[in-house]
Amino acid sequence: MPYNPLERFGISVVTAAFSKRQDGNMSLSYGDTRNSLENRKRFLYPIGINYCNLVCAKQVHGKNVEYVRENNRGNGAFSYDSSVADTDGFLTDKKGVPIAILTADCLSVFIYDPKRPAVALLHAGWRSTEKNIAAEGVRILQEIFESVPQRLFVGFGPSIRSCCFEVADDFKSNFPYGIITRNGRNFMDIALINRQQLINCGVKEKNIFDPGFCTFSDNDDYFSFRKEADASGRMISVIMLK
Ligand SMILES: [Zn+2]
Repeated sequence: MPYNPLERFGISVVTAAFSKRQDGNMSLSYGDTRNSLENRKRFLYPIGINYCNLVCAKQVHGKNVEYVRENNRGNGAFSYDSSVADTDGFLTDKKGVPIAILTADCLSVFIYDPKRPAVALLHAGWRSTEKNIAAEGVRILQEIFESVPQRLFVGFGPSIRSCCFEVADDFKSNFPYGIITRNGRNFMDIALINRQQLINCGVKEKNIFDPGFCTFSDNDDYFSFRKEADASGRMISVIMLK
């Protein structure tokens, strides 16, 4: 079965998973897209998700998070053009509506609120991390669903990590934490920064699970835009209330 970053919390009412390189390209707009629909179908079917219902985004590295309802079902399932515009995060309290994010190096953030219940999924590259999309996701969960940060559960997908993600000197002034200096070179840890941003919102550290996979180091298993540039496919992260 696909890796479920929320599995350790013993949540039975949520389906969550991210794909690996071996599952194939999941993007309808990047990389070799010829088999993408078939790849989605094959990956999602065993976890009880109909690929026809997928809700995808036209991701723009911003911090907008959209509330997804039943009428969004299938937006982005068959074409990039039908994806929800200008958003890098989704949240929903609707059952049977799978929300998805596509990544190659960027971090996907899976969030579950057992109280409503509701789920959220964020696309956190460095730009969205700089804009603190994690805090925005928690804020909108609180606003729409009256979620309590202390009760949220969070799991991370794979991303490029501080072992490999070298950044320019000026990143140090934009990120108060998560920039690691080794031998005079700066490296960014996107997952560590998102973890701290979530903790700053009141999410409990023990309720955040980071599997620690690096897309660049583990390029055999994951797509990496930094490593493969325009040829890179995308992994899918998906979450759905059953
Ligand atoms: Zn690495």
